Amino acid sequence: MENCLFCSIVAGDTPSTEVLSTDVAYAFRDINPKAPTHVLVVPREHITDAAALDSSHEVVLSGIFAAAQQVAKLEGLGERGYRLVLNVGADSGNSVPHLHLHVLGGRRMSWPPG
Ligand code: AMP
Ligand code: ZN
Repeated sequence: MENCLFCSIVAGDTPSTEVLSTDVAYAFRDINPKAPTHVLVVPREHITDAAALDSSHEVVLSGIFAAAQQVAKLEGLGERGYRLVLNVGADSGNSVPHLHLHVLGGRRMSWPPG
């Protein structure tokens, strides 16, 4: 997808700090972290957001969750826990229209989210 920031990061055209790379997913550090660990897990394939997912995305979907589990392990979050966030649409604050799973951890989170 042209003019997509996360496609550009997956392609290596925009620099990022890699945490994990798999066949279907790429994980990198958020440029403006909201927690001690803040990693974004994106599918290599361009999918706009969770609202655009359908049954053809089964492999991608399991792949990004498997990658998120691995990221949590690599970051030492397994014991304490962590938060996975998928923002969809304007009210959620979604700013980059390429599906991305936020992996947030390393501090106590509040609920409800802001
Ligand atoms: P969202 O608000 O759910 O769309 O999340 C987009 C996230 O991408 C935000 O947390 C941003 O800080 C992050 N972000 C934007 N540009 C970059 C970049 N070049 N490298 C890493 N993270 C980025
Ligand atoms: Zn994209």
